[in-house]
Amino acid sequence: MIRPSIVGQIPPRRVPIYIKAGLLTQLDRCLFAPQRGCPLELVTDRTVDSLYASRVVASLCRGKWHVHKTVLRNGEASKNASTVHALHEGWFQRRRGRTTRVVALGGGAVTDTVGYAAATFMRGVPLWLIPTTIIGQVDAAIGGKVGINDHRGKNLIGCFYHPTGIIVDPETLVTLPLRERRSGLAEVVKYGVIGDLELFARCESELTSWLAGSSSLPLEVLRRCIRAKTEIVAADETDIGLRHILNFGHTLGHALEKWGRYRRFRHGEAIALGMVGAACIASLRGMFSHRQMDRLSGLCGSLHGQTRAVEVTETELRTHLSFDKKRRLGRHVWVLPRAIGRVAVYDDITDREIHEAIRFLRDWVKR
Ligand code: NAD
Repeated sequence: MIRPSIVGQIPPRRVPIYIKAGLLTQLDRCLFAPQRGCPLELVTDRTVDSLYASRVVASLCRGKWHVHKTVLRNGEASKNASTVHALHEGWFQRRRGRTTRVVALGGGAVTDTVGYAAATFMRGVPLWLIPTTIIGQVDAAIGGKVGINDHRGKNLIGCFYHPTGIIVDPETLVTLPLRERRSGLAEVVKYGVIGDLELFARCESELTSWLAGSSSLPLEVLRRCIRAKTEIVAADETDIGLRHILNFGHTLGHALEKWGRYRRFRHGEAIALGMVGAACIASLRGMFSHRQMDRLSGLCGSLHGQTRAVEVTETELRTHLSFDKKRRLGRHVWVLPRAIGRVAVYDDITDREIHEAIRFLRDWVKR
């Protein structure tokens, strides 16, 4: 039996998080079948299927599970109501019931979609998450938010549903292409800005080597981000206060993702731009110094991945911003940095400030 590295405390629930290299081949030591032949629905995407599903299936079978595997299309293309419907259909056809285990193996798009399908199947079946991207491991799989996109915007349909357990195997990050590593590292930088100055400084000195893949993300950095997220979620499970800070960079980022039809930007690339946009507003308000702006934009400059101009118009962006879930009394909620390591939530951002942020971003990307 393997002991969890971190236990998320979300009263009355405790969510064990196992973090260790090589866990994919030792799942039988974390996830126990109550008896031989218990049904388990494994859902993954095409890329992860070809890379990791066989070893996952082998170790689950050793744990006496009877595994059925479903393979989804990669990424946001599957994060919708038709995928959830198709998953439910398959589970009904195979006569799955409330004790069936569902295991989501893949990046954030897989864990969000499969998590939502598990949450809504027969009012919820036990769910295990095995995230295989940096975003999945440091963010998407942690904290119980599951959901899908709607044609109006991102993650607009969803709920809070905590998994029975989360298994993080850092070895899976080795196969991530550069673009996915870059996207994930934007979320790591985010943790630095919202509350961990030391992590931010570490990103400044090591980001290049993490990007080059010469050394994968150190286990300790992974743990630090996961711990930060579990602590924030424990303090505000349903996102009515402190949890908002995790949204740093996301107000603008989600709107850009939607504008790019989820194809132009990887999630973290859009967040990198969103963080710089939010920091620009903070600078205009005189609460984020030029020096800090340079440090943040220096890191984000290696992460947004845009080689073409971001030619989004203000009208387009405003349309997409209007569907952002984070609103207070009809006003958008923005998370702005007050310093590196400290952010605050604002709902009084003016049209003028948004205009300036977009203008700044357009010029900044071209540099
Ligand atoms: P993703 O699932 O689209 O994965 C990105 C790509 O990487 C896919 O093409 C996938 O096939 C590939 N991939 C996955 N693991 C791999 C591996 N080990 N090696 C090689 N390729 C691999 O999504 P993502 O980028 O991990 O996450 C973005 C999604 O997560 C977005 O939909 C976002 O909204 C969501 N998200 C959710 C939360 C939350 O709290 N629920 C938080 C952050 C992000």
